[in-house]
Amino acid sequence: MTKTIVLDRRTSKNPSLDYGDFVTCCNCGKTMLADIRIDKCPECDEETLAWADEKNQEVSDDFFYNNEEYMLVNMEEYYIDEKSIRYYYPFETDKKVVDYGVLAEYIGKKFSRKEMDKIIAEMILRHPYIDNSKRLSLAVMRNQSYYHILEFRNYNYNKQEKGNESIKYETECIENN
Ligand SMILES: [Zn+2]
Repeated sequence: MTKTIVLDRRTSKNPSLDYGDFVTCCNCGKTMLADIRIDKCPECDEETLAWADEKNQEVSDDFFYNNEEYMLVNMEEYYIDEKSIRYYYPFETDKKVVDYGVLAEYIGKKFSRKEMDKIIAEMILRHPYIDNSKRLSLAVMRNQSYYHILEFRNYNYNKQEKGNESIKYETECIENN
């Protein structure tokens, strides 16, 4: 018996912890468990979703474990490794940097690859420390291994004005690293 593969494309934005919309896409042909009330296909971005099973529109994982017709497949998970985040050296900020700027809303959450690519793009566009620090580096993980190690260098840093405190802070950081 051939099982239908169901991609688990629920994300952190799904309003339910257990349930998702059981849908199939008329454009790319994928069958998925997607975020409830999603209108665009998570795979191809087209508004071509239809219920995979009219009688079972919103289902949880249990539905698939109890149904031999289907196999629910976990998608790869992407996340930011908080321990890897290093700022060298944001001035005008406290030495203990706990304000991760744009990153804060993403730390501790899991994402699909497409979402993670958007996060990286957003970070480049509007992360405050990319402009204000000499360097920012962090690791983006896929499941348990590295996906990207990102490093932003600010080549304008030496020309930027810094207060005395910031310079002291920078010197301390260099000694500690
Ligand atoms: Zn599709």
